[in-house]
Amino acid sequence: MPSRKFADEEVVMGRWPGSVLYYEVQVINYDDRTHHYTVKYKDGTELELKESDMRSVSSFRFRKSSSSSGSPSRRSGSRSRSGSRSRSPGRPAKHKRRSSSQSREPKNDKKNMSGEPYLIPLKLHENNTSQYNGEPDITEVNYSSHNILEQQRIESELEKERMSEQYVLHPRKEEKKTEQMTEQMYSEEKIQQRIESELEKERMLEYVLHPRKEKKTEQMTKQMYSEERIFETPKPVGKICMKTKELEFGGKIGTTFFIFFLPATVFYLLLMGKQKDPSLLNFPPPLPSFESLWEMRVFGVFLLWFFLQVLFNLLPIGKVVYGTPLVDGTRLQYRMNGFYAFLLTAAAVGISLYLEIELCYLYDHFLQFAVCATVFSVVFSIYLYARSLKAPTQELSLGGNSGNIIYDFFMGRELNPRIGNFDLKYFCELRPGLIGWVVVNLVMLLTEMKVQHRNMPSLAMILVNSFQLLYVVDGLWLEETILTIMDITYEGFGFMLVFGDLVWVPFLYSLQALYLVNHPNEISWPTASAIVALKMLGYYIFRSANLQKHAFRRNPKDPKLAHLKVIPTATGKNLLVSGWWGLVRHPNYLGDLIMALAWSLPCGFNHILPHFYIIYFVILLIHREARDEHQCKKKYGLAWEKYCQRVPYRIFPYIY
Ligand code: NDP
Repeated sequence: MPSRKFADEEVVMGRWPGSVLYYEVQVINYDDRTHHYTVKYKDGTELELKESDMRSVSSFRFRKSSSSSGSPSRRSGSRSRSGSRSRSPGRPAKHKRRSSSQSREPKNDKKNMSGEPYLIPLKLHENNTSQYNGEPDITEVNYSSHNILEQQRIESELEKERMSEQYVLHPRKEEKKTEQMTEQMYSEEKIQQRIESELEKERMLEYVLHPRKEKKTEQMTKQMYSEERIFETPKPVGKICMKTKELEFGGKIGTTFFIFFLPATVFYLLLMGKQKDPSLLNFPPPLPSFESLWEMRVFGVFLLWFFLQVLFNLLPIGKVVYGTPLVDGTRLQYRMNGFYAFLLTAAAVGISLYLEIELCYLYDHFLQFAVCATVFSVVFSIYLYARSLKAPTQELSLGGNSGNIIYDFFMGRELNPRIGNFDLKYFCELRPGLIGWVVVNLVMLLTEMKVQHRNMPSLAMILVNSFQLLYVVDGLWLEETILTIMDITYEGFGFMLVFGDLVWVPFLYSLQALYLVNHPNEISWPTASAIVALKMLGYYIFRSANLQKHAFRRNPKDPKLAHLKVIPTATGKNLLVSGWWGLVRHPNYLGDLIMALAWSLPCGFNHILPHFYIIYFVILLIHREARDEHQCKKKYGLAWEKYCQRVPYRIFPYIY
């Protein structure tokens, strides 16, 4: 077994994933099994690094100072380097980049023979020193204290040289050129990161950037631009290994509990929904016989439904868009045809009604369908876990790679499992369960008319159906916005999401409609109008908040968002601090919860069962907010704390 090279608490130089930059990091611990170190950057970011991505501080400095022409300072001023916006803890904010002592223009940096290149101290303009810009402190002072004096001397020399050079070189023109380059580089972040990663493979730790490589950079840039245009899948580059250390949902014991508790909850609530007296205290409800829970025909219908949705998903209609950058800088493609799938499903349901196919079969065998969906989810999750064992390390999720089978099975190891171009997680998030929910609601509406001998569905049933239909259609119409939600960007695809998508959503979110079948609740038109107004208020907040963030993440320079204030962060991403995201830290959750309340109200207050969704949803979103907050704190460090100071309330203004 190879012995470890660095001790705990030792300060070394660690490579920032996906870039060629090295920063001072402190070793936190070492995993004997994977041979990875957990290290902490100065801005508080913790990552796992391979030993090959780490250097001792002394060897690092020696290498740089021993080569004048090949000094990293020179490299840091090269086109690819200066344009890099890789996610690094030491990358200075834009206005600081241009301050006189920190310029990374190639010409100036060529003069730097000091050998302190990647960690060029960032000297703030006097007027700016007290002005917080959201960057972690490390970006402002990024060098060891023992060489401060040496650094100051070098800096002042550089400054002199720089001034004289700028004078000769027509400073305004030069500055403008640099600014243009910086702007251009900013928008080309991903491409540059990929180029850097590719080049890094070839560099073999020497710090000379040959003209040959410059040329190669240009070639690669051209190639990648053409890739962007024709929507080819970018080739994944680099390897980043993250091991899950912080376990969520109660860790191993908690997730084991949830694997049994979630299906049990579904069956209990469905059984209660069909009871005459659905009081939750009527426990346990009469249980059906074990044999009656399974019917092959029902399973066949379930599979037919699932694969029909697969077929719709595979149709080559709808635009193809890129998802958010993955941890290695690449992005996946997604075909946006959810709304078409919905229309085709609606047509199929319409034809079934025309042909007088008994859709109430679904209501009559509701529990059996839930059993089939659960069995399918378990088998599917086992498949996902098994295939994840062969997945490349960089394709694993950050939260589902603990090494514990049960925990990883529940959380999901692989982030974006795909069969060819077919994305399993993305498909399950929006299609069989979500569209299935609407179909279940419709069947409940038809069953209500049948059971209660009505010519028309009840007003309460119409409201529940139309509110939830709006929610689903909206999600499918604006399908692209789902690409930035946590489920897609962060969660692995395991039992939690599979069961949530295929069982929890279609069978429990339709609980209100199921309840109304046997428990009519008459509501007046004024009450209905007030509930509709509440729903529309919630929808307005939910949709505009989500759209605002989505538009901002897609294009932070969108002129329509120019009025919004932001806090810059060390990752290069900004945080919105005005508009919806300045009201509370999760305005979209607020809107979603208001809508959830509006879904419950038409069912009246005779029983708590139809209010299960809002109760569960409050708990879910408070927990989800805490999880997201934890991740954002890790991602953005001080900038996130600043954001929390500016926006103190999480979901409910002035309450929570
Ligand atoms: P969000 O869409 O709120 O995404 C959170 C992410 O947004 C953060 O991780 C961060 O990611 C980014 N962010 C946070 N604050 C800011 C800011 N100030 N400025 C810019 N970006 C910021 O969370 P979810 O994925 O949980 O929810 C998406 C939607 O789905 C919500 O409307 C929610 O209500 C709904 N939902 C519905 C469920 C249901 O069952 N009906 C279940 C769960 C969610 P980064 O900085 O990396 O971009």
